[in-house]
Amino acid sequence: TERSLVLVKPDGYARGLTGEVLRRIEAKGYRLAALKVVSADTDMLHRHYAEHEGKPFFEPLVAFMSSGPVCAAVVEGDRCIEGFRTLAGSTDPTGAAPGSIRGDLGRDWGKKVQKNIVHGSDSPESAEREIGIWFPEL
Ligand code: ATP
Repeated sequence: TERSLVLVKPDGYARGLTGEVLRRIEAKGYRLAALKVVSADTDMLHRHYAEHEGKPFFEPLVAFMSSGPVCAAVVEGDRCIEGFRTLAGSTDPTGAAPGSIRGDLGRDWGKKVQKNIVHGSDSPESAEREIGIWFPEL
C-alpha cells in the first residue's frame, strides 16, 4: 500500500470544501490514516515547497499557504498518489477537467498564485518527506 500527503489549501478550507474533498477521497476507496487542521508557518512551507524556491510564484505561494488554516491528511491505498492527483485534476483550475476537484470546484480568482483548492504528493519520496513536515508526530 502507498501513502500520500493531501492538503486542503486555505482557499478550499475557507470556502468550506474540506468535507467535499475528504468525501471524494473516501468515495474513491482510500483511507484517511491521519487528519488535522493546521495553521502552517513559513518555515514549514519553505520546506514543503523547497523544489519551487527561486521561482517567481514561490513567495506569493508561501504567503497564500500561510494566509489561513489548511486541512492536512495522510491518505492511504494502493496507487493513491496517482489516484489522488487524478481526483485533483490539473494545476490550473480554469482548465482542469470537469469531474475533478479543481475542475468542478475551482476557477481563477485574478491573483499571482493559482488557488487550486488541494495539494497532493507527486511521488512516494515526496509523500514521505511531506508527511514528515505536516505530521512530525507520526
Ligand atoms: P500541488 O503540488 O499543489 O498538488 P501541482 O503539482 O499541480 O500542485 P506544482 O507545480 O507542484 O503544482 O506547484 C505547486 C503550487 O504552486 C500549485 O498547486 C499552485 O498553487 C502554485 N503554482 C504552480 N505553478 C504556478 C504558476 N505558474 N503561477 C502561479 N502559481 C503557481
